[in-house]
Amino acid sequence: MKSCVITSPFHYEIREIPIPEPKDNEVLIQMKSAGVCGSDLHIYRGENPCSTYPLVPGHENAGIVAKTGKNVTNVKVGDHVVVDLIITCGECYQCTHGREEVCEHVLVRGSGTDGGWREYFTAPEDDVYKIEDSIPWKDAALIEPIAIGAHCTKRGRIQPDDTVFILGTGTIGTIILQACKVIGAKVVCCDIDDESLKRAKSFGADETINSKTENIAERISQITGGHGCTAAFDSACFPGSLTLLLQPGIVCNAGRVIPMGFSDKPESFSQADINKRELDIIGSRMSAYQFQPVAKNMAEGKYQLEGLATTFVKFSEIEKVFKNMENPDPAVKKTVILFD
Ligand SMILES: [Zn+2]
Ligand SMILES: [Zn+2]
Repeated sequence: MKSCVITSPFHYEIREIPIPEPKDNEVLIQMKSAGVCGSDLHIYRGENPCSTYPLVPGHENAGIVAKTGKNVTNVKVGDHVVVDLIITCGECYQCTHGREEVCEHVLVRGSGTDGGWREYFTAPEDDVYKIEDSIPWKDAALIEPIAIGAHCTKRGRIQPDDTVFILGTGTIGTIILQACKVIGAKVVCCDIDDESLKRAKSFGADETINSKTENIAERISQITGGHGCTAAFDSACFPGSLTLLLQPGIVCNAGRVIPMGFSDKPESFSQADINKRELDIIGSRMSAYQFQPVAKNMAEGKYQLEGLATTFVKFSEIEKVFKNMENPDPAVKKTVILFD
């Protein structure tokens, strides 16, 4: 089998290795599709402090069960499955309080340990979820990123009567938009790119704001009758973007603000900015317990998937993925690797 390995920052190779044997509680997965994420670029560039090399990237993994260990009962050979990206201890405070995404000992497949950009790999059965055969492989790779949208909207307590502001309409912004629409909330999308806003409209945005040409607070005031949005997601994640969302006129009193990024630059707001309106700033990282509900929604056709992935690359031509990391084409928003 072939395995794609980042040997050190900016270097990768395709290695020919034996197909692994599953242990008693493990499942051997033959990969069918894998998403390429912005975080893979950071790993390739050596910008992810949690990554060690050599590393097989890939945390958005879908495939077929090829073999099972003798104690496996969850899935059987031939099942279509997705593989959770997080490996947790199951015992710490977080794991025992429904917050395994921030397990004290969390390890992420494709970042802190080997992921799915290889033809076969093994995983414990608890991390492997059966999905409907009717979900095309090109879509199954999107279950992980869509689970992020399901997770952060749960963290943000999004309800049907919310008016949600989403800053940034890239892949994650578009996914949060869809998660909000599945719940039934009204969504206002903001970006600096008209093409991207047009795309957000086609994915169900009720209102769009181009912050390059329009005043955000004025438009929000018009849209919400002067009240402000009830929740705001930062999927733009540039230095200062969280400060922007805490400015008066974006969210209302008791509003929730959910930053999605990992910018390590200080922001500038005061305790008064938070407490005058009793705002909640709610962290959200990866996802937990969402793969199965998302796969179910996907099988029921609840997401608009056409156009979410913009580019498809065969695993045998994976050099195209790295070429695009080195020289990004703006038309490539989300790539899915399809295994031959
Ligand atoms: Zn990702
Ligand atoms: Zn734990």
